[in-house]
Amino acid sequence: MNRGNVEVPEQDEESLVERLEELQLKLQDMEQSQKVLRRIKHAFKQTLEVKCRGCSKTFKPVIFKAHVLSCQKLLEDPDSF
Ligand SMILES: [Zn+2]
Repeated sequence: MNRGNVEVPEQDEESLVERLEELQLKLQDMEQSQKVLRRIKHAFKQTLEVKCRGCSKTFKPVIFKAHVLSCQKLLEDPDSF
């Protein structure tokens, strides 16, 4: 007796695996953006002003968040961020 184990018909099992793989991919995406967010948050905690590496202006963190999305210099050279 396999108590606790739910018996799944073979076909359902296959689609279940597919869904699991989909989910894993989504999780990987989320982990990536979580890492980026953590890095940004960490940088914000360390300083009250953030200097943009694109245009060398300093901003308050809240404003900087919006600035990095619109900074032309950063868009031209994303590696400098
Ligand atoms: Zn800038």
